[in-house]
Amino acid sequence: MTQTSASSSQRPRIAVIGYGSQGRAHALNLRDSGFDVTVGLRPGGPTSLRAREDGFIVRTPVEAVASADLIAVLTPDMVQPQLYAETIAPNARQGATLLFAHGFNVHFGQIAPRADLDVVLVAPKGPGALVRREYEIGRGVPCVWAVHQDPAGRAEAHAMAYAAGLGGTRANVIRTTFKEETETDLFGEQAVLCGGASALVQAGYETLVEAGYQPEIAYYEVLHELKLIVDLFYEGGITRMLEFISETAQYGDFVSGPRIVDAGTKARMKAVLSEIQDGTFARNWIAEYRAGLPNYTAFKQADLAHPIEETGRRLRASMRWLQANREASSTTQD
Ligand code: NAD
Ligand code: MG
Ligand code: MG
Ligand code: MG
Ligand code: MG
Repeated sequence: MTQTSASSSQRPRIAVIGYGSQGRAHALNLRDSGFDVTVGLRPGGPTSLRAREDGFIVRTPVEAVASADLIAVLTPDMVQPQLYAETIAPNARQGATLLFAHGFNVHFGQIAPRADLDVVLVAPKGPGALVRREYEIGRGVPCVWAVHQDPAGRAEAHAMAYAAGLGGTRANVIRTTFKEETETDLFGEQAVLCGGASALVQAGYETLVEAGYQPEIAYYEVLHELKLIVDLFYEGGITRMLEFISETAQYGDFVSGPRIVDAGTKARMKAVLSEIQDGTFARNWIAEYRAGLPNYTAFKQADLAHPIEETGRRLRASMRWLQANREASSTTQD
């Protein structure tokens, strides 16, 4: 008995529910790390074929949940409360571990887990495709982890085993709380990574094209080259970028950067953060989802119809190596 519970601490049987951006990467990495992984998906759902092609036995969410020591909830955030109530709460084993990759539903009170379940968070700080690619080349994506409740006493052991199985410990793992992960993750993707960066690129492109410059040159200047700059940030921070760019570019950075992102921008960042912290963003997003995503759909269509997308499609056609990348990755950030 002691033996069984010790081994279930280190090598829990894992059910991965959802096989999208994170679900696929987690399932593949954990299997390659020696875990017994079952994928739980709705029969006939859009990703079950892909999971089967990857060699997994695909079960219904109910079957996968019922046989697992650790249940990884990797469906979209907005479907998790119903999935928890209808499928997980009635079928999870006594004392099983419930694992999330984002703290949203627990932190904002949309899921109140059963009192006997250990509840943890292991959130890789990167999109699923990168979590898989880094693992395959012997590296890892840093992860943050947290414990919400620990009645069965395996929360930390399971979170660490899972983070190691993902390859996260090869990079770094940092302990956090559900609150800190949820608020910083939402802020990062809204203000800087997704919202901020895409708006900056679109505005830069529009400025050049409206001034009469060629769209193709505008694309290379404000979107394509951004990767080269971000690679330098990643390797050695802003210090490394400054080492690599010309004196002219450095001087331009110093005098013009603060005119683009100024005190007003930072004040608006603080407003975005406040609305995340006080629950306004969560309330609005849940209401939007329940209303059938009317604004979300319109915003997304506007992004997809932005002229920079058409320009980019044409120019990327000559970069053949991107084809292979796209097939290997697919789907969303965050
Ligand atoms: P996704 O949209 O890429 O994948 C969703 C998967 O869930 C698909 O396989 C879909 O078929 C399945 N699914 C949808 N509804 C379902 C249901 N009712 N029952 C069973 N399966 C269902 O999701 P994602 O972007 O990987 O996000 C999963 C979690 O990971 C979220 O909590 C998200 O916040 C978190 N996260 C995502 C990223 C990212 O890069 N995408 C990064 C860090 C954390
Ligand atoms: Mg994130
Ligand atoms: Mg945008
Ligand atoms: Mg230049
Ligand atoms: Mg996120």
